[in-house]
Amino acid sequence: MPGVKLCSRLLFFIMNSSTSKIDRNQCLRCGTCCTKGGPSLHRDDINLLKDGHLSYSDLITIRLGESAFSPVSGKVEPVKQELVKLAGKSRSWTCGFYNDSGKESLCELYENRPLECRLLKCWDPQDLLSVIGKESITRRDIINPGDPILEIITLHDKECSFQEVEELLTGLGDNQESTDIMARLTGLVSNDLAIRSQTVAKINMPVAVEFFILGRPIFTQLKQRGIETRENNGEIQLILSAK
Ligand code: SF4
Repeated sequence: MPGVKLCSRLLFFIMNSSTSKIDRNQCLRCGTCCTKGGPSLHRDDINLLKDGHLSYSDLITIRLGESAFSPVSGKVEPVKQELVKLAGKSRSWTCGFYNDSGKESLCELYENRPLECRLLKCWDPQDLLSVIGKESITRRDIINPGDPILEIITLHDKECSFQEVEELLTGLGDNQESTDIMARLTGLVSNDLAIRSQTVAKINMPVAVEFFILGRPIFTQLKQRGIETRENNGEIQLILSAK
């Protein structure tokens, strides 16, 4: 089953540097790294939010248990801790701050780019690898402790756990006729969508911050695993794609 790529740029550079395809020792500002996925944020980056260089709408959350590429193991696997990343633009992996509209492509955040961007050397990914999974920040590190949205995040994580999704998908395995598992997955997708709608209504959550506040919808993960979500007269239905 294909999975979600969390840090495809690191995978790209690990693979290419190990096969000596990148023959250089300085940055050519070609922008390739910026099109392979934005960085995850670390404690070192919190001031970028405090100083207004980044806002919630620039971010996306990878929730605990969501399947993603691990640059450490080299496999797609459920993340062991929540991650906050710079979001891509237009549903692509190209970093939202990468601007290639002019003669020269550029990083619109260059002077204040996050730690991983400062460490990334495409010809030698070791510095970047050394910080992966260390001092990563979560939503709770950057949301005001008194903000009522934290209650919604707690409820959403409990009711719509990606860890449970992964357990169910594992149980589904070859047993794709399992109605119990499909019913529970349907319930999780429905709850996830309901909490998103309620949050928009309750706190007027702008669409631009949804993927930071609640992460990506469960149905997008299921789609990557071969399960389509349809809505029929307000009811959610999951359909296994033909192999
Ligand atoms: S913040 Fe800048 S350097 Fe980092 S990935 Fe985005 S465009 Fe590239």
